[in-house]
Amino acid sequence: MINKGIDINEEIIEMEATKNIALIAHDNVKDDIIRWAIANKEELSKHNLCGTGTTASLIQKNTGLNVKKYKSGPLGGDQQIGARIAEGEIDFMIFFWDPLEAQPHDPDVKALLRIAVLYDIPVANNRATADFLLSSPLMGTKYKRHIINLEYSAQKRIEKFNNK
Ligand code: PGA
Repeated sequence: MINKGIDINEEIIEMEATKNIALIAHDNVKDDIIRWAIANKEELSKHNLCGTGTTASLIQKNTGLNVKKYKSGPLGGDQQIGARIAEGEIDFMIFFWDPLEAQPHDPDVKALLRIAVLYDIPVANNRATADFLLSSPLMGTKYKRHIINLEYSAQKRIEKFNNK
């Protein structure tokens, strides 16, 4: 649900108590996300899960939880998840990226992290942050995210070009 914020530049998007969680991990940290998902299976089972192809398959296999699969990250999965965030269909992300190795799809990774910040969604990039996020009392409640008012911002830019 989208409402106007207190400021004309701002919109509020209300997240439901049931979160739409994206799970992503690069190859060198896939074991970490699997172990984390097993340890947090009960909390994760309360939410809708999705992920990039390989990560989603491995988590589903190791936890028995249903995880919707997008394409594998290097084949466009990160971009698909970014698009779902922009469309308001994903509102929470656990993304263990590899701090020690460059990826062929590094530009997609950067784009995904950028869009997650823009849309004010909670993001965990390592296990400790994931533990803190998942144990937050906000996991079980509605929550108002603050994003820029996209229509107002587009209108302002159109006006700027019309005045040239
Ligand atoms: P994968 O993609 O889950 O398909 O391996 C993750 C990534 O590398 O972004």
